[in-house]
Order: sequence, then C-alpha cells, then structure tokens
Amino acid sequence: MHYDNYISQCLCCNSDKLYEFYKIKELPIESLQLFEDSQSALSVPRLSFIMTLCEDCGFIFNRCHNAIVKKSTTSYHENQAFSPKYREFCENLAARLINKYNLSGKKILEIGCGSGFFISLICEMGKNKGLGIDPALDPLQSDHEDDVGVEFKNDYYAETHHEYVVDSIICRHTLEHVIDPRNLSDLIFRHASKDDAVVCIEVPDSLRILEENAFWDIYYEHCCYFTSGTLARLFRSIGYEIVDLRKDFGEQYILLEASGAPAPVNGPFPIEEPLSQLYRQVRSFEAEVESARRVWRRIIKSHADLGHNVVLWGSSSKGAAFAAAIDCIKELPYIVNINPSQHGRYVAGTGQKMISPLALRELAPHLVINMNALYQQEIMADLRTLNLGCDLRSISEKDRVLRAGQVMDLGSA
Ligand SMILES: [Zn+2]
Repeated sequence: MHYDNYISQCLCCNSDKLYEFYKIKELPIESLQLFEDSQSALSVPRLSFIMTLCEDCGFIFNRCHNAIVKKSTTSYHENQAFSPKYREFCENLAARLINKYNLSGKKILEIGCGSGFFISLICEMGKNKGLGIDPALDPLQSDHEDDVGVEFKNDYYAETHHEYVVDSIICRHTLEHVIDPRNLSDLIFRHASKDDAVVCIEVPDSLRILEENAFWDIYYEHCCYFTSGTLARLFRSIGYEIVDLRKDFGEQYILLEASGAPAPVNGPFPIEEPLSQLYRQVRSFEAEVESARRVWRRIIKSHADLGHNVVLWGSSSKGAAFAAAIDCIKELPYIVNINPSQHGRYVAGTGQKMISPLALRELAPHLVINMNALYQQEIMADLRTLNLGCDLRSISEKDRVLRAGQVMDLGSA
C-alpha cells in the first residue's frame, strides 16, 4: 500500500525502531467538524491510520499522518463544557493551580485555547490577565478582549509569542494534535525558562486506551498518543523539572506540571509506567482489539436485524471513530449530544446526525451506548427524565446492561 506521508523516524527521539500495531484503512480526517447537510459531511475524506510505537522511547503516533489536514474549529473538551461533571473538573483544576502556584493577579498564556473556556475561567477565578492562542479561533474573537480581560490571538504558537512575559503556560488537549510534540514542548520550555513560568500540560491517557481496547478513542485529529511514562520522559529529556504528574477526570487525563527553571532532575513518579509495561500493553491491544471490534459489530448488527434503533450518546469524534472502526456507520445514524449548537448537524466523514436527548422520544431506541463511562449517571438521569425504558450500555463496560426503568429503582433505593 502506498502512503503519501510515511514517517520513518520517531518524532520524539529520532529512533527508527518503529513497530506498527494497529491499522485503520479509512478514518475520517475531521471527526470534530460538523456540517449543515449530510452530503457535505460525507465529502470529507477518510485516510489511512497506522498506530506506531517507538521501541526506544515509547512514543505512539500515526506514522502516515497528513499534517496539512486543517485543525478543527471545535475541540472535544470544549464541547464537554456543557456537562456539569466536566465543568466541575475544570473549576477544581483552575482552583488547584491558582492555590498551588499562587496564580492570582498574574499573567497566564493558554496555547490551543479553543473557544477560551478554560483561560477565561482561570482568569476570572484568580483575577489574572490572560492570553489565549489558537489557530482555529473564530476570527471575530481574535485581537479582542473578553469580559474578564482575556486577549485572544488566532495564530499558531511560535517564537514570536515569547515576547509576552507570563507566569504560567497552560496547554490542554493540544499536544496530541501536533505531529511533532517535541518541537512544541521545546518551544514552551524556552518561553517558560525565560520567564520562570510554571507549565501545565493536559493530554488524554493512552495507556487507558490500550488497556480498555478503546478503539473509539483513536481518531485522526489525535496523531500522538501519550502515556504518563512517555510524556514524562519526553519533558525530562527537554530539560523540564517535573513538579507533579497525576491522572484526573476518572483517570482519563494525564496532568503534568513542570518548571522551565534549571533544577536537579527528579522522578520518576509512581504513575510513570516503565517501557516494558508499555510494550506488553501494546502487544495485548494488538492481540485483542480485533475481537473487541467484532463483539461490538455483532451487538449492533443483531439489533439492526430486529429493526431496533441503536443510538450513540457522546462526542461526534468518539461516535464517528466507533462506527467507522466496526463498519456500522449505516446502523448508527445518530449521536446524542447535550450541546444545543450541534443539534441537526452532521459529522464529518460518517454523515451521522447529531441530535438532542429529546429527539430520542421519537426514535424510541432499544439501546443507547454511552461513549464515556464517566457520564453514565448524567445520561441515566436524562433517560429517566425522558421516561425511556431502553437499555443503556457504557462503552467500556459492554457486558453490563442497565435498563433505564430499573436504574430508577436502584437510584432511589
Ligand atoms: Zn522515540
């Protein structure tokens, strides 16, 4: 097979000892993007994806990633801002950073700020001045200050931005979108060193993806897949002092806090898995993911054969990745999301329609598949309000089926 882009060396350590362990022939290149009609959505190309492990440093990436693919205008984590659970997580995170690093009345930079939800939050809570940089920012938002005094720039973060003197640099859910994370981490390091600023990085934990065979968490926009060990090794090799390394949000995210100031090398932290463990996990994912896909395909097809509606509940990217990976796009035409701005729009690449929870009344699904176990209680409560007696399965607990009616009894017991 011929690939336009085929990366032959690790982008973190230059090693050529690369091991391919998961291939998807056609993955939509922009599953975060939504369209007004299904035809435009379906016109978005699908490209090959080859998940590859560097055997020398543990870095996992898509070795045929096409970097010219433009970045989506919305991001997964900002879409989650509608969830009370996610908002609570962000508020707790902002409060912790403010207290721990004395970020009050300071200057904060967020790289890859999305719509600005988090930078505005931490600036409001700590009475800080903020700058948010994102190449996919709404141009109308660029060069304007929001009502808590955050300035926004529609741009790629670059050397020129080092002229801003900052006390903290935050970069959440961005590193996994760039194919050369070492360059970006190094750029941030030099900025942080100059200003003695604290750096806060947040990425999804890919060890969990490997452990759970979570193929629905693998999508084109994510070209890099970090584990605690890989992220820490990368940052330490650049020269950072890692102050804290932890998991949060139901262990789904890795949070790394580091300083650019010269300091004695510390670590490893307890959650840094050794390379040998990562290799084992990659091998087990490789051995089991096909059967995981087969099980889900069988579940979906058997409902479809009986004429039952099955509906996914969650983000467009997880829903599209799931349906595409099990080859059931036709059987899964709807994704429920609580963000009203998405309703009635269509997912790039798969053409699935985003609908509101209320729309489930008409569809009367037999089965709702929750794409993120963390939201199980929230979704259960919504199904209960809608008076739907359908089954609810969490994607990561495929053997555990809950009936919305029964759940009500459990909840009130
Ligand atoms: Zn490497």
